[in-house]
Amino acid sequence: MIATAEKNLGRVTAGMLRTVGNALSAGGRNGRRVCILSYHRILEAHDPFLTSEPDVHTFRWQMELLAECFNVLPLHDAVEVMGRGDLPPRAACITFDDGYRSTHDLALPVLREYRLPATVFVTTGCMRKGNMWNDRIIEAVRRLPGTRLDMRDAGIGVLSLAGDLARHEAAHRLIEASKYLSPGERDAITRKIEALGGHADSNGLMLTADMVAAMARQGVEIGGHTVSHPILTRLDDDAARTEIETGKKELEAITGRPVRLFAYPNGKVGKDYDDRHVRMAREAGFTAAFTTAVGAASRQHDRYQLPRSRPWDATPGRFGMRMLSWLAA
Ligand SMILES: [Zn+2]
Repeated sequence: MIATAEKNLGRVTAGMLRTVGNALSAGGRNGRRVCILSYHRILEAHDPFLTSEPDVHTFRWQMELLAECFNVLPLHDAVEVMGRGDLPPRAACITFDDGYRSTHDLALPVLREYRLPATVFVTTGCMRKGNMWNDRIIEAVRRLPGTRLDMRDAGIGVLSLAGDLARHEAAHRLIEASKYLSPGERDAITRKIEALGGHADSNGLMLTADMVAAMARQGVEIGGHTVSHPILTRLDDDAARTEIETGKKELEAITGRPVRLFAYPNGKVGKDYDDRHVRMAREAGFTAAFTTAVGAASRQHDRYQLPRSRPWDATPGRFGMRMLSWLAA
């Protein structure tokens, strides 16, 4: 395992990352930070429509790098230890959002191989439906006939479908344009594209309840991520509270354990959630909550707004250096 990691990383790079990481922590435990990595899907192979999702080969070297050069902690423990000012140097956590089936099928075997702890934030309604609306759009755009898509009546304009790159951009634009609409409006756009593209099977993409329960038994922490993945700021307070609390209760019924951690859907500070939802997460009984702000978490952060991100670099050395730069910031 170490030999493989050092072959990928290079012996000098691995040693350099550890040395630099230790030097960054020399100021004492109190000011140390933790890098909380956020994944969504893991792919069997590279997909031109899902360029921000790593394939399993990429995920493997990233896990080798974490096992070799960082101190990976269970997320709940990391938050507790950080609160006491007692984080180890080069601290990191691994999380997955939304509850994709690939977390169970592709990521879990690699995590077990390297004995790495992880947390999965599950959206219970998407678990029951077997897909997320954004994946339905991607699968429909992949199958659309012709070279252009006229979405002027939805205010999106005419999108080119000439080639994989154009289709990838079209799908991305449709997802961004739909993200902040009401669920009804979003569904209408999704259905329209699906109708034009013919039936696209995007079911079976998410974890089943049995998989969630099995992962919890194997020591994976299951966290809350609402029922239907809404943009919380678009809901009235009662609806937002119901999304947060019901998601938690449903996961507790599935796992038979307390669900202690929460991730805000989409997670942009002030845009996707605000102070009301921070209060709701606390009142629902979560012990910490996570955003999608870039950088590492420190004791100075609000425990209910801890940043989470993932380096986008394509090589182990740069990936590791970016984590260290966040730990140093
Ligand atoms: Zn999400």
